Amino acid sequence: MTTAESKIKKFESGNCEQDKVFYQAMEEVIYSIAPLLESDDRYKKHAILERLVVPDRIIKFKVVWMDDNQNIMVNTGYRVQFNNALGPYKGGLRFHPSVNEGILKFLGFEQILKNALTGLPIGGGKGGSDFDPKGKSDFEVMKFCSAFMTELHKYIGPRIDIPAGDIGVGAREIGYLFGEYKKITSSYEGVLTGKPFMFGGSLMRPEATGYGTVYFTETMLEIEGKEPLTGKICTVSGAGNVALHAIEKLYHIGAIPVSCSDSKGTIHDPRGVDLALLKDLKLEKRTSLEEYVVAHPEAKYIPVSEYPEDGHAVWDIPCYAAFPCATQNELNGFDAQNLIVNGCVSVSEGANMPSTPKAVNDFLSHKICFAPAKAANAGGVAVSEFEMAQNASMSKWSFEEVDAKLKNVMQQICKRVALTAKDYGVEGNYVDGANIAGFKKVADAMIAEGI
Ligand code: GLU
Repeated sequence: MTTAESKIKKFESGNCEQDKVFYQAMEEVIYSIAPLLESDDRYKKHAILERLVVPDRIIKFKVVWMDDNQNIMVNTGYRVQFNNALGPYKGGLRFHPSVNEGILKFLGFEQILKNALTGLPIGGGKGGSDFDPKGKSDFEVMKFCSAFMTELHKYIGPRIDIPAGDIGVGAREIGYLFGEYKKITSSYEGVLTGKPFMFGGSLMRPEATGYGTVYFTETMLEIEGKEPLTGKICTVSGAGNVALHAIEKLYHIGAIPVSCSDSKGTIHDPRGVDLALLKDLKLEKRTSLEEYVVAHPEAKYIPVSEYPEDGHAVWDIPCYAAFPCATQNELNGFDAQNLIVNGCVSVSEGANMPSTPKAVNDFLSHKICFAPAKAANAGGVAVSEFEMAQNASMSKWSFEEVDAKLKNVMQQICKRVALTAKDYGVEGNYVDGANIAGFKKVADAMIAEGI
């Protein structure tokens, strides 16, 4: 039994198979914060770790809806309200067939520390459903969202818990969820973030995670004395909201993003990927990446089935900086070796925990600049908090204002993480720096709030 498992087992009998990914996230944190716990006995005395690893509550509910052929469908919905020491529960909703309690606990736990790192007053939570929006009609998505909110609305509120998007939940889904919340409660308030701009959304929320990851990387490379991204080949995985906006920001700063990927395959376009086409394929048509090569026959499409089972084609493309922006555990030890051998200098996680523990260890031992998700992808939730602030004050900030604030938050997180690592004797290790800085912030609040 791992340390993480034994800590949690004392409190609950979870599903071991589902909880693997939760233990993986926990294990890393427990290992990282050892120097902090040794330097200050208040954390042990107040049993902070034991209290932090157990969610405040997990809400699990049935979602019944009808598809376009009048079939009655049943899905499971969840909201994990993990910790509200620093502010109301805050975190996304994921709609994907892989969603279960274990995955949401892992994401919720990461969210606590991520939100703490932003320096903004938000606690951690996560939710979602095993519903798969892929291949569903617009009307089916609407009906599912309505049914989901019929139950969820009882547990959320602008000062209680404010969900947002994640994989499978974008502005369309948030719009339907918000519409249903309003219908049930007759109350028009900022209970969800990531809303479309026309009814309370913040400018730049869609761009925030991808842009923020690039801002973080620029600062990290500067601190570490490496060359900037301008003119450099970059690889990006994924083709969702995070990946597309990371690619966009890389173009803005003069870098050359040459790849993207989805669950079926990878595109490698050495001249730089055609972002307008990608947005059309993925955001408008919601179709497979394979169609990219119809417009660009000179680009290469590598189906998942044609790449060795151990790894992923996207990490076999030589690059200066890599941006895993798809999903958890999408970059393993095999992939890390490919990146290292091909001369990669930095890896920044746009997705949540995309690198396996083996990959992370390889990057750290080879002195690759490695930006962990809870620090590097915090831009999304930071702009969500800006949306909450705008809703509460009935105001709208300009694109430039939000962008400047986002950039500042990402630079501050990066500097704080780098400094914390230095203070605790692990200079250059952004994993330990992020875990210690995030944990300390939440732990100090928990101590101050009593048991
Ligand atoms: N799902 C995003 C994340 O993983 C954003 C959460 C939010 O905006 O509340 O951080």
